[in-house]
Amino acid sequence: MEHAKTDAPVRNGTFHVPMYGEFTSRHNRKTRYALSLTERDLTVQKITSSSQAGRGKVVFNLRDCIGCRAHRTDEPADVAACFTAYFYPFKKRWASSGVSRQRVEQCFEVASTQDPHWNLQEAQRWAGAISDGSVRNRPQKTGALCSEVQRPCKFLVLLNPQSGKGQAHILFTRHVQGMLQEAGVPYTLIITERQNHARELVREADLSQWDALVIMSGDGLLFEVVNGLMERGDWEQAIRTPLGVLPGGSGNALAASIHHYAGLQPVTSEELLVSCGFTLCKSFVWRMDLTSVHMASGLKMFSFLSLAWGFVADVDIESEKYRRVGPARFTLGTLIRLTSLRVYRGKLSYLLAEDPRGPSNTSVQNSSTPVRPTVHRDPSARNQPFRNSCNSNNALNPKRSSESPASVLGPPDSLLVPLDQPVPAHWTVVPDEAFVLVLAVYQSHLAEDLLAAPASRLEDGVIHLMYVKAGISRAALLRLFLAMEKGTHLGTSCPHVEYVKVRALRLEPLSPKGTITIDGELVEYGPVQAQIHCSLARLIAG
Ligand code: ADP
Ligand code: MG
Repeated sequence: MEHAKTDAPVRNGTFHVPMYGEFTSRHNRKTRYALSLTERDLTVQKITSSSQAGRGKVVFNLRDCIGCRAHRTDEPADVAACFTAYFYPFKKRWASSGVSRQRVEQCFEVASTQDPHWNLQEAQRWAGAISDGSVRNRPQKTGALCSEVQRPCKFLVLLNPQSGKGQAHILFTRHVQGMLQEAGVPYTLIITERQNHARELVREADLSQWDALVIMSGDGLLFEVVNGLMERGDWEQAIRTPLGVLPGGSGNALAASIHHYAGLQPVTSEELLVSCGFTLCKSFVWRMDLTSVHMASGLKMFSFLSLAWGFVADVDIESEKYRRVGPARFTLGTLIRLTSLRVYRGKLSYLLAEDPRGPSNTSVQNSSTPVRPTVHRDPSARNQPFRNSCNSNNALNPKRSSESPASVLGPPDSLLVPLDQPVPAHWTVVPDEAFVLVLAVYQSHLAEDLLAAPASRLEDGVIHLMYVKAGISRAALLRLFLAMEKGTHLGTSCPHVEYVKVRALRLEPLSPKGTITIDGELVEYGPVQAQIHCSLARLIAG
């Protein structure tokens, strides 16, 4: 475990802007700059002869600033003090089109008097005002901003060293550690030692110690954390702990979704990490939907991303062996699976989000008993949704959820009836029974470069359900995935592709073998049903 302490910048004072001051650059004492600070911007103007007026002026938007700190210079005898502001504005990429957030440090020296104490106070006044402005400038987008993580705060960072190409720790040290220090956010870093380590940790942790739980990995580690929180007696409170996401895995769909929701141009890999690191430092908290998923064995899990059966699930699991290539493993896996396309038989039914026959979230009445929340009866079974650890084909000897004890875990699933009963009469039953894939997503992205549900939002209360019926050609399926990179796949009029917005669904595979994944994690194969719960969790997003 690694602890990091930082000099917290002054953030709570009331500072009077506009402010004006003239300072030298920390790196070149011969050059002077005029600084003007407004509520929105810091303007830095190089002071030169009048003939060059207007040149050398840079305007920094405080929305791009993550912090500013005052400090002494490195020389003990020096009377000067400094303030350093950290900006991450969008800049053109080197050697390619588009923009990404790139770090710009601005360090100025205050040496107005021979009194070191006065100089430091003046540096602190500037640092405080800049930090204050960076916090007050909220994201512009509309939506239900829930809260902000208040300073001072402390984050718990959970990092999976095996995720992605096995470089998550290096990437954290290279990009994120410094950003958290610049933002004045102390954190404790825990490197996970095995699968379900994080899940066990958050299940038992004293959450009052942390202002946010940050996951540096792919989506799989967040799946562990969400389920660990929902397994607690105080789940209702625990799941409101703000969650932060840093892409360090090969499947970084939520990280890509957060970036997309902020209305930013797509980026991948380390640029996406810097974007998410910036978002984390800003610490705006939004509400996020979670979907509860019931399996035939009685297990219930919570999912923030996806439920997949068929092609997508196959690619996800089969491409595990190529994880050393990072996110490209999905492209490779897609191409390989396309060569031997499989068809799966099964029944799919759903409850439309906008049910023309009545209020969309009307719970099940009269006809049957709603599903009661279940707990994992066998303690060893709690930890088994279960990347590569569970056999497919119902090897877990499933029991029906209606046999489960009525212990409460999570909110009641008022739209669902037990899996051994027929779906309610007002549900839609898909007439086709042969599929190439069924994919339910509740975020925009399915991978860094797959914009599966462009219309999805963090808390739209909607499961975006897509399915591809048997009969689609390989070429058409390839075109579909290529279009998904831009999010234009739903506009193509392929007769085999269907897309509906639903609140609940049931999938009953008839093929004896197959793969089902939740948030990219392998789960038991067999009947599943799911219901979305609007705004259950909290997520740090931009
Ligand atoms: P990736 O996107 O690279 O697959 P994930 O975050 O999805 O990264 O993690 C992959 C799997 O690794 C998940 O099932 C997670 O539970 C598991 N895991 C977490 N920590 C460890 C660890 N220290 N060693 C091995 N597996 C781990
Ligand atoms: Mg959504």
